[in-house]
Amino acid sequence: MSHSEIRVRFAPSPTGYPHLGNIRTALFNWLFARHHDGKFILRIEDTDVARKVAGAVENITESLKWLGLDWDEGPYFQSQRLPQYQEIARKLVDQGHAYLCYCSPQRLEEMRREQMRRKQPPKYDRRCRELTGQQRARLEASGVTPVVRFKTPLEEETSFHDLIRGKVTFQNDTLDDFILLKSDSYPTYHLANVVDDHLMVISHVLRADEWLSSTPRHILLYQVLDWQPPQFAHLPMILGPDKAKLSKRHGATNIIDYQRQGYLPEAMINFLSLLGWSLDDKTEFLSREELVKHFTLERVGKTAAIFNKDKLDWMNGVYLRKLTPEQFASQSTLFLQRDLPPSVKHPLDNSYISTITPLIQERAKTLGDVPRLADFFFLGDLEYDQSLLIKGTDTASATKAIETSLERLKPLEAWNTASLEDILRPLATELGLTTSKFFGLLRVAITGRTASPPLFQTMAVLGKERCLKRLNKALHEIKMQN
Ligand code: GLU
Repeated sequence: MSHSEIRVRFAPSPTGYPHLGNIRTALFNWLFARHHDGKFILRIEDTDVARKVAGAVENITESLKWLGLDWDEGPYFQSQRLPQYQEIARKLVDQGHAYLCYCSPQRLEEMRREQMRRKQPPKYDRRCRELTGQQRARLEASGVTPVVRFKTPLEEETSFHDLIRGKVTFQNDTLDDFILLKSDSYPTYHLANVVDDHLMVISHVLRADEWLSSTPRHILLYQVLDWQPPQFAHLPMILGPDKAKLSKRHGATNIIDYQRQGYLPEAMINFLSLLGWSLDDKTEFLSREELVKHFTLERVGKTAAIFNKDKLDWMNGVYLRKLTPEQFASQSTLFLQRDLPPSVKHPLDNSYISTITPLIQERAKTLGDVPRLADFFFLGDLEYDQSLLIKGTDTASATKAIETSLERLKPLEAWNTASLEDILRPLATELGLTTSKFFGLLRVAITGRTASPPLFQTMAVLGKERCLKRLNKALHEIKMQN
């Protein structure tokens, strides 16, 4: 492994399912690795036993696989590497860079409350930092399990160069004597993260902005361990359209939900790539290959990115329309099978589906829209909203319109778009109705709704028998209104 090799990692904590922000971090790391012909490593930071969520690891790997973010090494699990962290913690204590702290959780909690009351930042008061040998022996004998804390320098400051933000400086006295090893002998994030980035020869740490204040602590650890730190790049935050931190409220649930809702991985990748990065001021559509080719940290912004769900929907719609009709039909099938109302008979007929989906492809923003837009193709009897059937006309003219249509359509043998149009278009004038009113009425009768794919194509796909049946039922409903 040469020193100049680019090695980056995605290091999620399995304390929940990954959301957009997490996956944007994964994507930028992946793009950076692929751009530089480097390595992308997956590391599960599972040292917070209490906050571990069942199924989170599987969800993380499933999300990455869905999006095609393949990793070269891992997943490594920190919980399987405990001796390494424990050894480093011991070494730091031996060298005087860290110390054992015996303060009870109750004492720390009281201290925290008191500091809050005085409006001071919560911080350990360093009581155990200068314990004498005798005091330590006494505490040890009392059976308390200590934690290991870092001996943060009391003065001066710690700076580092962030590849996105430039020079960043923190005053050491704000950094606290943070914990390295907890009383359960698990490392904290700070210790495990630094040890692993070193042992895994990580060249660049690309992570979300929220970790910025951890970095000076990590730098101090690298210094006392005499290790070369990686380069750091803190990625801009992602905010909702209301400029608040992105949350479920903005529709930003876990990433697999986007798969369930029928977003395409390629659209997600394109969309996520633009949350904090851009090629120039105008380019919106970039393929995965183009992203790999062009991705650089220089074009990652400093200011927060805004998550715009409408833009995602629009972009996904564009990607859906780029699919071939066959691809769209086969991808839609899964959603139709899953989401059509239970009254629809299964298995669905694939060749029937392939006559329907071309009518939907233009209109769907997600594959999840397909069953909603196409359910009337599959349903037996429709339930009508009666007021829609006579909307813009009256019962008498609606009755006449449908009766005449039935009369003309019954003998029709070549049931196709052109012949249907040939019969029905002139009929509007004959009935003294505008085409929009007449076709509107037929549309409601045939589909049960006021918006649908083009009427004649829809009727052609539905077939004669279904259409006549629906027209009869609609007629019956109209007459019932009298
Ligand atoms: N485990 C941290 C997380 O959940 C990793 C942060 C980092 O990349 O250092 O995001």
